Amino acid sequence: MLGHLIVPVADLVLGASCAGCGAPALGLCRSCGEAAAPEPAIRWPSPTPDALRRPPVLPASGGVNADVLRRVLIAWKEEGVTALTGVLSHHVAAAVLMLDSGRPLSLVPVPTSARSRRARGADLVDDLARAARGHLVRLGVDVVVTQALAYRRTTEDQAGLGAAARAANLAGAFRVRAGRLPAGRDVVVIDDILTTGATVAEAVRVLSEEGRRPIGAAVAGATGRLSETVR
Ligand SMILES: [Zn+2]
Repeated sequence: MLGHLIVPVADLVLGASCAGCGAPALGLCRSCGEAAAPEPAIRWPSPTPDALRRPPVLPASGGVNADVLRRVLIAWKEEGVTALTGVLSHHVAAAVLMLDSGRPLSLVPVPTSARSRRARGADLVDDLARAARGHLVRLGVDVVVTQALAYRRTTEDQAGLGAAARAANLAGAFRVRAGRLPAGRDVVVIDDILTTGATVAEAVRVLSEEGRRPIGAAVAGATGRLSETVR
């Protein structure tokens, strides 16, 4: 009974509605929460960027970026519903567990451009990685988050670019920050959405050049052309 009162009041005050279906709710409603629950798997972008090939850097995603999960990601990334970091961090944590090497891990978020940080008021991927780490630590995983990557130069917005244009846009865009990567930890690149794999591949390329080839990349949702094997 009280719940019936609280949600409409919250809706008036905060405009709170479910990001999946629009019904009044704080965060996600129950049915959308179930529909978008993590279904982690290794999903390769097709074609697979060279940087992910030998030795393979496993692309683990917490779910397929479709239906409710897609709407959640749009609300989180484009519409300022940053509270959904809590929901999506479960997807990233589930993806990291797909990669579990049994060794201590260092999660390296892909860097956020100054433009994105201004537009969103936060470094969403860093927030996502830190929230995912919280879940993993509670499960007994020895894991840290390391801001080891930064932008070397500005890039165009990736949205609307095809695979080749995305790769060209990002080539040489990142650098490894000296002294940021602790020794003795397997590196996992963290991003929000895997589309062509261009962003993750560029992060893998620069980390590999520094002798710290990641074991995998973990994202909340994968989209685009996906394959169960390298293509
Ligand atoms: Zn809903």
